[in-house]
Amino acid sequence: MKMAFTLDDLPLWPMSYPPAGYTVAGMVDAIIMALDRHKIRGVYAFANSWSLLKHPEFKTIIESWTAAGHHVANHTHSHIELNDVSVEAYIKDIELGESHLSRWLAKAPQLYFRHPLCYWGDTREKRDAVRSHLSDRGYRTVDVTSWLYEWRWNRAYRNCLERNDDEGRTSLGQSFLKFSLAQLAYDDLCARNWFGHDVVGITVGHPVPFFADIADEFFSTLIHAGVDFVSLGEAMNDATYAQVASVPTGKFLVLQQKLAEVAGKPFAMIEPHSQGLFDEITELGVGQTG
Ligand SMILES: [Zn+2]
Repeated sequence: MKMAFTLDDLPLWPMSYPPAGYTVAGMVDAIIMALDRHKIRGVYAFANSWSLLKHPEFKTIIESWTAAGHHVANHTHSHIELNDVSVEAYIKDIELGESHLSRWLAKAPQLYFRHPLCYWGDTREKRDAVRSHLSDRGYRTVDVTSWLYEWRWNRAYRNCLERNDDEGRTSLGQSFLKFSLAQLAYDDLCARNWFGHDVVGITVGHPVPFFADIADEFFSTLIHAGVDFVSLGEAMNDATYAQVASVPTGKFLVLQQKLAEVAGKPFAMIEPHSQGLFDEITELGVGQTG
């Protein structure tokens, strides 16, 4: 299975400040080290710029990311969601992100954009207007074929951190690795069935405590299972990705699921045998919102 790994919400997702014992820089460094150890090069991080105004020192986090040979892409300034706002407000936020991130965007081989939550437009008017703005500005829009749902594990993990439950943390790591293998294989199969050919997948992680701690083991488990991490450029060469934002939808789904849902042929988000585990992890994360 070929797959491009991407990172979202560099340096910090709005309002998800790390808990005691973690720093934003430390989490990003741990992910950089894990990528380096597994020779996964030139990873695109889709960045929000809001936190750079509030915490100017976070610029050094983006500098460390690019100094390690990785790239930056636009993910709006404040992580607003297209389903919730007007076209004008959304485009203004894209432009604001572009102006704050320009020095890093300019260094990347390709200008990429990812919609927050991959919401590319829930009405034809919004989809068309934003799509043509992005294309006029030279952006290619990047969607995903697999969520890792590591944010769900992260909530349960934060609950473990709060009660010093080391055993719980270890067990979350193990269940995540097991889940990831099943979910990525399922998404790969669904994409192949939907598009009618093998698809170079695109997945995404976030700089959150759980992922920072598991990243090294996550990459080694996947590589051991036969996942070949390729560049985002190689994935985007797949003609499949011309179908990103091809129809209006406001659903929180990966690419093949959005297209199938609009076509009236939806399939399950979660790998069916893993749904029980997924629900259990969701339950363990109650009380956390990050
Ligand atoms: Zn995001």
